Amino acid sequence: MSTKKHDQFSMQNPLTQYPQPPFPAQGQPAPGLDAKMNPEPDHGEATYKGFGRLAGRRALITGADSGIGRAVAIAFAREGADIALNYLPVEQADAREVVKLIEAEGRRAVAIPGDLKDEQFCKSLVDQAHEQLGGLDILVNVAGKQVARKDVGQVSSEQFDATMKTNVYALFWLCQAAVPLMPAGATIINTASIQSYQPSATLLDYATTKAAIVAFTKALAKQVVERGIRVNAVAPGPIWTVLQPSGGQPAEKIPHFGEQVPMKRPGQPAECAPLYVLLASQESSYITGEVFG
Ligand code: NAD
Ligand code: MG
Repeated sequence: MSTKKHDQFSMQNPLTQYPQPPFPAQGQPAPGLDAKMNPEPDHGEATYKGFGRLAGRRALITGADSGIGRAVAIAFAREGADIALNYLPVEQADAREVVKLIEAEGRRAVAIPGDLKDEQFCKSLVDQAHEQLGGLDILVNVAGKQVARKDVGQVSSEQFDATMKTNVYALFWLCQAAVPLMPAGATIINTASIQSYQPSATLLDYATTKAAIVAFTKALAKQVVERGIRVNAVAPGPIWTVLQPSGGQPAEKIPHFGEQVPMKRPGQPAECAPLYVLLASQESSYITGEVFG
């Protein structure tokens, strides 16, 4: 089964625009590879059309190898931005494809793999991105860890700690390093979740981090507005990415992923990217401290 390609602008029924459940049963060890998903997600490779809304901007995107981060990287490159991409070293195969897609737009792609659970790495990531891109105008925090467990007793301290470090501490370390380097007009975009407000029973630790991201976003926005920096968050519903079949959901839920929402299907990464573009661009100049579901 392959994901139906569509024209980004022609009017059509959103219910049937993309694959609907049931999906084939599938699973991969975390963090997983996009290329092994069935159907393959749409990141806008064939469809996203840019209008120069981020011309000359320099962006650091975490989790840029796959899923939502890949769709954001493609969209930003087509809007004219140069991009530093972070991902885990084991995700090199996915990242290589993203680098090619960015370079195909004539934009710079600086690949900086590494583990965001490490404070020193987070600091050096921001410094390297800033140095190699010649500045830093946009920070997009997309990387995230999600491991489903049915019982609180099954959440080990190691898992709890790793989820907190990846989703919350890294956000703190990256923002702390980036803010002093950013000019007025710069933007930070964080990735929360529907789990921030409507937590699933199986996502105790993950949902807790996603609620924290909402508070962090609003507090930081109030603080850095004095510098002319805006901070917002995107809170996606169920999106068809490798996060889910690599331990993010119990295996039996994958064939029916997204079925319970009003659209009766999961969203595609390509359907998230335009919101990140809006929040990164000057078009959203009067929007800060907001979370977009
Ligand atoms: P994804 O697996 O494609 O992206 C997650 C990325 O996080 C990975 O590609 C990996 O590069 C990165 N990552 C994880 N641990 C890391 C670490 N220790 N160091 C560096 N990078 C690390 O899945 P996705 O669904 O596109 O996830 C992107 C974001 O969207 C996450 O923050 C996730 O919580 C959020 N989100 C996803 C959904 C969904 O349904 N897919 C819904 C709401 C929010
Ligand atoms: Mg990945």
